Amino acid sequence: MSLSALIFDVDGTLAETEEVHRRAFNEIFHEAGLDWHWSEDDYSRLLLTTGGKERMRAHRDAIGRDEPDDERLAALHIRKTARYGQIVHSGGLALRDGMGELISAAHRAGARLAVATTTSRGNVDALCQACLGKPAHELFEVIAAGDEVTRKKPAPDIYELALQRLDVSPERALAFEDTRNGLLSAKGAGLRVIASPSAYARNEDFREADWLVPDWSVKRLPAIVRALLGQPN
Ligand SMILES: [Mg+2]
Repeated sequence: MSLSALIFDVDGTLAETEEVHRRAFNEIFHEAGLDWHWSEDDYSRLLLTTGGKERMRAHRDAIGRDEPDDERLAALHIRKTARYGQIVHSGGLALRDGMGELISAAHRAGARLAVATTTSRGNVDALCQACLGKPAHELFEVIAAGDEVTRKKPAPDIYELALQRLDVSPERALAFEDTRNGLLSAKGAGLRVIASPSAYARNEDFREADWLVPDWSVKRLPAIVRALLGQPN
């Protein structure tokens, strides 16, 4: 069946965001007087927990503490999202190779575009404005983000929400993902998945992916996507 919609993950898929997230977390931990500092190794492990609040909770529980409580973690997460936005707006992030060209080609071809992400809506807006020069809602017809579902990736809920808002069946959409959790989420919703591992996910298992590519260059995309984009094969 031919495609009508492309659904994108955000962190690691549109851009290599994770080092900016790690920096923002560490800065707000310091500012809040917490003795937490996440190294790259720490963050590789913590990324297996999706969602920022959930990730801080996982760290607190792993080090055997009761504090900060969930309410304070939620407040810290709001500050972290604001700090992340400041760093992104100041030019601290670039799209992954091929992604700008892919989104432009999809718009020209009249493809329907959506986002399905566990990151917060504020982070999606910051990234789109800084890296694509437009607000997220002008680039993506549907944005399913953050706390709109209770069960985060690898649960299929966020992709199911995006499909429901697009009003398309999973056979007519395709997901773009960079991690195993994201891949499993999209597959769980019945989507075909094209995966391109991001820096933190290079050693993960992508065996269920329908296609695996090193970057998002249009010339590397499978024929079914190129057909949607009106590109010759
Ligand atoms: Mg991702």
